[in-house]
Amino acid sequence: RDRGGDWSSDVCSSDLCTIVCTLALTIGLNGGYGQNTVSAASTKNNKIVIGHRGACGYLPEHTLESYSLAYGLGADYIESDVCLTKDGIPVIMHDITIDTTTDVAKLYPNRKRADGHYYVIDFTISEIKTLSVHERTQEGSTTNVVYPGRFPLNSAHFEVPTLEEYIQLVQGLNKSTGKDIGIYPELKQPKFHTDNGQDIGTVALKVLRKYGYDTPKSKCYLQCFDPSYLIKVRTKMGAKMKIIQLIGEEPDSPGANYKKMMTDAGLAKVATYANGIGPWYEQILDVDGNKVKLPVTNPNLVKDAHKHNLVVHPYTFRKDDLPKYVTSVDQLMKRFYFKENVDGIFTDFSDHAVKVLANGPKK
Ligand code: CA
Repeated sequence: RDRGGDWSSDVCSSDLCTIVCTLALTIGLNGGYGQNTVSAASTKNNKIVIGHRGACGYLPEHTLESYSLAYGLGADYIESDVCLTKDGIPVIMHDITIDTTTDVAKLYPNRKRADGHYYVIDFTISEIKTLSVHERTQEGSTTNVVYPGRFPLNSAHFEVPTLEEYIQLVQGLNKSTGKDIGIYPELKQPKFHTDNGQDIGTVALKVLRKYGYDTPKSKCYLQCFDPSYLIKVRTKMGAKMKIIQLIGEEPDSPGANYKKMMTDAGLAKVATYANGIGPWYEQILDVDGNKVKLPVTNPNLVKDAHKHNLVVHPYTFRKDDLPKYVTSVDQLMKRFYFKENVDGIFTDFSDHAVKVLANGPKK
């Protein structure tokens, strides 16, 4: 039943992946982006860069190629999203559906649900492995991409990785480069998985434990939007690794009250089971670049989180989706790292965050 191993032997075997690994390592290790040849966490400020869906600003999200590039660009942690297949294999996919990042509609036209969507959990791992991942398209379209400046649509073949393949890639690169880069997996929609007869936390924890990630010192942050499920992961399932409570918009997670969570008292509660929070950056600064105000959200969110020993890792910094109060992503990152004093950021462009941290607050 545990077929994870069947799919884990061919990490980084495709020609394209080999090329990308080579390219990324060359950039990362030879300092192609200036003098900064070390990962950001080793700089004295101890702030981190999280490669969001790998380096999805440059390559299709959640592919081994994208992770390899993020690694080479100097990210401290490589982020992933975990969903389960019909046969219970943890795979990496941002959504519980696969319509907008794979060719599923072409290969399996009769497998959509009544709502018109194709779900990871309705496909076996063998079927998932036949899919080709492509640059994200807009909902309902197979031709309009979300970010037109990014990797061209359908111009190369990429596979959906398993959780094990992602881990093996990062651990393999840690061995071959001598670095110690971490993983940052997200449990996607636990309630949806439970409603469909599977428990994502149990399955994911089994894999994470197999690879040595379940200690407070492990280079692993486990993240999830669902607070009651994270409490269960910490208590009932006994997870010992660092946990990040993601903070979304209210409708995203039924049962969660993020407004309450972001108050001083709410953060005190989060600190009983988590080690940090992952808010949207507009929950720290509004669209005009001003502190968001109570009672809607907390103008002292970062300070209050730090008071409760919670790190703050806001999402998602993109150079092709900037707020009006900055003219470059570097400026935005600098503002958050050094003025808002966050501890790390999720970014599609790890190279920029590495550069901003290397330059420090003065430059
Ligand atoms: Ca995620």
